[in-house]
Amino acid sequence: MSQQRREPDELRRAIDRLDAEIESLVARRDEVAVELIHVKDAAPYDPQREDEIGGHDRALWLPLLRRIRTAEGARLPLATTKPGAFPSGAFVLVAGPCSVDEHLEETLAVLARAGIAWVRAGAWKPRTFPWSFQGDGIRALRRLRDCADRQGFKIVSEVVSELDAPAAAELVDVAQVGARNAQNFALLKLLSTLEKPVLLKRGPACTVEEWLGAAAYLDGRVALTLCERGVRGFDPCFRNQLDLPGAVLARRLGGFQTIVDPSHGTGVAGLVTPMVLAARAAGLDGAMVEVHAHPERSRSDAAQALHPSELLELARMLGIEPPVQPAPARAPARPAPA
Ligand code: PEP
Ligand code: MN
Repeated sequence: MSQQRREPDELRRAIDRLDAEIESLVARRDEVAVELIHVKDAAPYDPQREDEIGGHDRALWLPLLRRIRTAEGARLPLATTKPGAFPSGAFVLVAGPCSVDEHLEETLAVLARAGIAWVRAGAWKPRTFPWSFQGDGIRALRRLRDCADRQGFKIVSEVVSELDAPAAAELVDVAQVGARNAQNFALLKLLSTLEKPVLLKRGPACTVEEWLGAAAYLDGRVALTLCERGVRGFDPCFRNQLDLPGAVLARRLGGFQTIVDPSHGTGVAGLVTPMVLAARAAGLDGAMVEVHAHPERSRSDAAQALHPSELLELARMLGIEPPVQPAPARAPARPAPA
């Protein structure tokens, strides 16, 4: 006996009803999960729960949950809900050299002229090859702190290892976790105890979900800002591929303040300014850019460093107020010739 054929319209309506039920189930599941995180007094890791779900195969569910969360999350309102590392409200521009080097003072003078409040500069540099400049470590960070204090800058600087983290946390205003350490969970756990705001970069091969997973190690324990810095792409024109939709999605799903780093995210100085403007237009919270008083002399990442004039122009486009220049001293009036 043949089943009665249903009309396409009826089938579409049936699918729409099922979709609505699935969406509301996922939303209710997420609400319960958030409540659970808040009522637990321990870290998110829960050995008892691990044991309970260990035997079940949930693999089929995950792609579905992911798709629905992506579709729903991408429509969430823009407002961030969690304390970030930078003051909220205005688009923040963090700028500075890739590494602390002999031109630090000169580069900081450029930042001061541009009206930048937050300086970035690496003391420990994670380099692909051991023969590349590795940074001068804690000595460099102390020097950065001294120079920054003299000119009233706040510091964002990368901490690459657990060994250096406690001493570095004393010296920085915001501790950066670099892309290569984005899933160094031992480092993340340690930083979650140091009471210092953290800037968490996205790993070059991390999905948005994995990035948010790393953020969960710090969430609620320290002020936290995410930084999209490009993911590994296929086109050798770019060092990395800046993922703007990924940054927007992470911000909306996680509720974290989120900035971009188009210097590492493209590897091309000439693309930095348009990407900062695109991030601002997309509603993100700020950008971190590399700049050097003499880009060609930078000891690391010379090709992506903005020239001083480019930083001044970018700051102007963002409406950052340069400091009021002291009026030039007037020459004493000459006596009129007799
Ligand atoms: C940096 O910001 O100095 C840096 C090394 O960036 P990333 O970790 O994104 O490569
Ligand atoms: Mn760099």
